[in-house]
Amino acid sequence: MIEHMCSQPRDGRDAASIVFDLPGYDVVDAVDLPLGGRRVVVQARARDEACPGCGVLSARVHAWARQHVTALPCGGDAVEVVVRKPRMVCAEPACPRRTFTQATDELPLRARCSRRLREQLVEAVVDSGRAVGEVAAAFGVAWWTVQNAIDAAAVTLPDADTVAVRELGIDEHRFARARFFREPQTRSWRRIEPWMSTFVDARTGQVLGVVDGRGSTGIQSWLEQRSLSWREGIKVVAIDPSAPFRAAITRALPRARVAVDHWHLVKLANQAVTTVRQRVSREQHGRRGRKNDPVWAHRMLLLRAGDRLSLRALRRLQDVFDRDDPTDEISAAWAVKEHTRMLLACNDIESATTARGQLGIAVLAADMPETWTLWNTINAWWDEIETFITTGVTNARTEAANTGVKHIKRTGRGYRNHDHYQARILLRSHRRTRRRRTLNQQGTTLKCE
Ligand SMILES: [Zn+2]
Repeated sequence: MIEHMCSQPRDGRDAASIVFDLPGYDVVDAVDLPLGGRRVVVQARARDEACPGCGVLSARVHAWARQHVTALPCGGDAVEVVVRKPRMVCAEPACPRRTFTQATDELPLRARCSRRLREQLVEAVVDSGRAVGEVAAAFGVAWWTVQNAIDAAAVTLPDADTVAVRELGIDEHRFARARFFREPQTRSWRRIEPWMSTFVDARTGQVLGVVDGRGSTGIQSWLEQRSLSWREGIKVVAIDPSAPFRAAITRALPRARVAVDHWHLVKLANQAVTTVRQRVSREQHGRRGRKNDPVWAHRMLLLRAGDRLSLRALRRLQDVFDRDDPTDEISAAWAVKEHTRMLLACNDIESATTARGQLGIAVLAADMPETWTLWNTINAWWDEIETFITTGVTNARTEAANTGVKHIKRTGRGYRNHDHYQARILLRSHRRTRRRRTLNQQGTTLKCE
């Protein structure tokens, strides 16, 4: 038995507080367990408690209860804390409660792990991006203990309506592999693409919501569930060139302007160059490109930003066109790609309109199905491109949030439970945004000083 002297308060903090964050308790015993780990017995110091039924103080102990609690591992060993708590008698005759047990914030009634441990579990999974199973093993608790701690933390997340958003970003990601299901009636196989769409504050990158699918119905219904003031606060929504997203936004947020993300349009232009290159290779050689073909060997050079190429790279590009582009189709597609980039780099509508005209001339000169498709897409999204040029709102933070989402997906090796997956996404994003904001505020304060 450890002397009570050891757990006497020192500098206002007693041993139980210092080691287990349990103020008001004394450490009365500690033993090494034969199969590893440690057991520490702590005992409540206060003898008078207010009855939760009537509020009358009582100092009469009826019996001593023992609560087994898992605490943070100490020195690499699992620690089991046995809490001796008095069960008190309520002396008030009118009170329906005859007895009651002490409960504190750190040790609520029937809690099986300490508050500090629960915080550490959530931190390990959400902030450090570790898998639930791995964290459970490291802290010596069950898988569902960790999951319960995460679920409890997710409940405290603020509602999306309380986050004032002016610029919203919507993006999709595939959260699991494509699956095939057999239709019971027709016996035919159906391919299921498990997609999810995320709503992100385009300024801060905070994920506000996650819905199943990437159709307009799910997007629209999530937006319509928000309060009227929240919806009216949205000025611009940045999306990829996705028709269902645009349809949902037009219906749910009629006043918001839609901006299409320039990165995806450049990607489409790059794709057009690649498709033309592959087609020309097939037509010229009757096969796919090989490393001996200059155009295949320099396929990445074709996709690099033309205005940022060095003189040497430009000469190499010209050499590729001279040697491996007899029909001038690849160079024409390259010119269309460069004009698309120039158009998207414009800062005002006037120069954008001029750039659009030049792009049109390049497309007419190229006259290929791949570049016509790109031209049609740009025309179909012209209003949204104008919004992007005038507001400069992009999906950059949304894409960054999506990278985080994919990290969660990979760490968990996939999720069977959508709620668990969505809770992880929202928690991680909320905590990261909060931390970034705190750091920014501290940075601002430092600069002011
Ligand atoms: Zn009472």
